[in-house]
Amino acid sequence: MTKRIEIKTVSKAYGVTNVLEGIDLTIEAGEFAVLLGPSGSGKSTLLRLVGGLEKIDAGEIRFDGKLIASPKVHTPPDRRDLSMVFQDFALWPHMNALENVSFALERYEKDSKVRRRQSGEMLERVGLASKLDRFPSNLSGGEQQRLSLARALVARPSLILFDEPLSSLDADLKERLRIEISELTRQVGSGALYITHDQSEAFALADRVALLNDGKLIQVDKPEVIYRSPATPFVAHFTGIAGELEGEIIDWCDDASVIVATRAGTVVAKRCGSIDAHSKYVRIMLRGSAAKINKSTNGGDGTLNGRVVDVAFRGRGYDHVIEVSGGTRLVGIFAHDRWERDDLVHLTLNADQTLAFPSDDAVIDLDLLAADGQVA
Ligand code: ADP
Repeated sequence: MTKRIEIKTVSKAYGVTNVLEGIDLTIEAGEFAVLLGPSGSGKSTLLRLVGGLEKIDAGEIRFDGKLIASPKVHTPPDRRDLSMVFQDFALWPHMNALENVSFALERYEKDSKVRRRQSGEMLERVGLASKLDRFPSNLSGGEQQRLSLARALVARPSLILFDEPLSSLDADLKERLRIEISELTRQVGSGALYITHDQSEAFALADRVALLNDGKLIQVDKPEVIYRSPATPFVAHFTGIAGELEGEIIDWCDDASVIVATRAGTVVAKRCGSIDAHSKYVRIMLRGSAAKINKSTNGGDGTLNGRVVDVAFRGRGYDHVIEVSGGTRLVGIFAHDRWERDDLVHLTLNADQTLAFPSDDAVIDLDLLAADGQVA
């Protein structure tokens, strides 16, 4: 039976440096959780603590209520009902593919015929049925990662820990293996804790994403919620923005949005973070999908005038770089049609993806803007 994993106020320091502080995260039975954060944020450390490769300094980890790690308790990795998939595969070089997978079953299944049958079936599911007797050194990178996936899945553990398993593979293979990891892990019914610094990989795989920065969990939620309502400017940045504008609130529209004067024009934006009635200055963060490109005319609130600086063909359409009035460049504004360099355009903004976070400082002078005719 798959178990619920609870990580409660877990902290870890190396020497005097706190690497993880007060981490609270629950992975429901069978849930696919992705830990996303920049390099050095503490992802691998948390994975190693859950896997039992390191000891925790404070807090506790429980599997279905059973304590497996605390400052006083340390259940060894092979008694935690989990398996791991590493970036560098970590296969046993002296064993062929079938033996690599079969060995992972030895603790659970005494009958070697049953082990061979179950291992063969799992290797078939990852597309390696014809390569059972190959040694890891005679398999390609993608095949080696499939083999380590089969080895992790074969005992149907409660939890699989994935340590950036796709980062050493090329783009096409990466996408195919990502789908296989997602499909097979869910079919087997194991829960997953998967770490990556790649936001698109995290969003594609996760039931829930846990965003880590500087040793602290910043936001844990479904990918859609994180994209639409990032908790902090860091989360917005890390999950992809086209650009940032600074401004001052000039009106409050409804419960959810504000009207903001910026150097580029007046925009309607969604209230994010800790914006409240006392907020005055804001940082506007624009998602790439927030802006629609139109022929240049003077729009009203929620539109910005700009000039196309660059255009990149992306297969399904085009990503544009657009410089708006005031000099800010917005990168990755998508359109199905191609706009040419130096075209004068105006951008219609979708308020839901134009995110306003509070800012401490006045960065624009409203009187000067009014003199420029940019604020009505
Ligand atoms: P990530 O996986 O997000 O890149 P890590 O968990 O590897 O981050 O590292 C988090 C921080 O802990 C980094 O500053 C790293 O230098 C430090 N760190 C990791 N392992 C050790 C160690 N064994 N000794 C000292 N510092 C470490």
